[in-house]
Amino acid sequence: MIDTYGRQITYLRLSVTELCNLRCRYCMPEDGVCKKRHEDMLTQEEMIMAIRAAAALGIRKLRITGGEPLVKSNIVELCRAAAAVEGIEDVCLTTNGTLLPKLAAPLREAGVRRLNISLDTLDAEKFRYITRIGKLEDAVAGIEAALAAGFEKIKINSVLIGGFNDDEIPALAALTQRYPVDVRFIELMPMYDSGDFGPEAFIPYTVVTDRLPELCPVPADGGVAKLYRLPGALGNVGLISPVSAHFCADCNRIRLTADGKIKPCLHSSDEISLKGLDYDGMVETLRSAILSKPKWHGELSYTERSHAARNMNQIGG
Ligand code: SAM
Ligand code: SF4
Repeated sequence: MIDTYGRQITYLRLSVTELCNLRCRYCMPEDGVCKKRHEDMLTQEEMIMAIRAAAALGIRKLRITGGEPLVKSNIVELCRAAAAVEGIEDVCLTTNGTLLPKLAAPLREAGVRRLNISLDTLDAEKFRYITRIGKLEDAVAGIEAALAAGFEKIKINSVLIGGFNDDEIPALAALTQRYPVDVRFIELMPMYDSGDFGPEAFIPYTVVTDRLPELCPVPADGGVAKLYRLPGALGNVGLISPVSAHFCADCNRIRLTADGKIKPCLHSSDEISLKGLDYDGMVETLRSAILSKPKWHGELSYTERSHAARNMNQIGG
């Protein structure tokens, strides 16, 4: 379906849970989330109905995210049901990777084609610091399990944080020379409560090309990342710039939160509920949500924070 600004909306990001087994400082508070009532969250049946409704309106690509989607006990079953929805051509999943040693093979078998795995640092101490409770070795084991499970594409996502991991840009990018993966650097977004960082943490994507002059531009693949390649690499380096060079004019996505709210734009406070609707109600509500998608996400900076009124784990990044 085409929105009011001529954008074809083909991509749904579905957050299946707000819960997570890590506590990344830019994403969620230290004490986790205030657990919502079970009956306020979408059921698996409602999630699949929403995907069917979205597919009827032209959604072709689905990303399962969270929170951490792999902490959800029925995640494999959910992915299998999602992959079977008529019209959905591509099911991908975003994860912190720590539970992949057990789940990579079942997810692949259930029809997940591509994985994005988050990894901000290759240093065990820094990994513990940024995730507050995680172990680097678990994330690395997850990446290895994903590589062994035969996904069509694996992308490593690193949030660029000035003073924290900008010194690791060469080492993280060099993963593309060792493994058949893309590495994408994503600008830190000033969310509602991701408040541990000072202004110097918000660095633009151009820092990556400054640090790595050997990066050669390669043609874009239809996604939002500007793509480059290191000499002899097996995968691309992608730069994603939601803050310093937004890509709202080409935005093709809508989001659905685990508590059933459609967010036509990540950084807007506008939310439209699907909870409790039947299939026809979901189709009509999704249609009007797409038509209400704003032109752009508005100013974003250290002082002009996102209007989303939720942290990232409660939206689905
Ligand atoms: N738990 C999974 C993971 O970490 O990949 C999926 C959910 S997480 C919210 C999705 C992505 O959002 C991750 O790559 C994470 O690094 C990114 N993210 C979270 N908060 C962010 C922020 N404030 N700015 C930029 N990216 C953020
Ligand atoms: Fe959890 Fe992912 Fe947020 Fe980290 S970024 S706290 S892994 S949801």
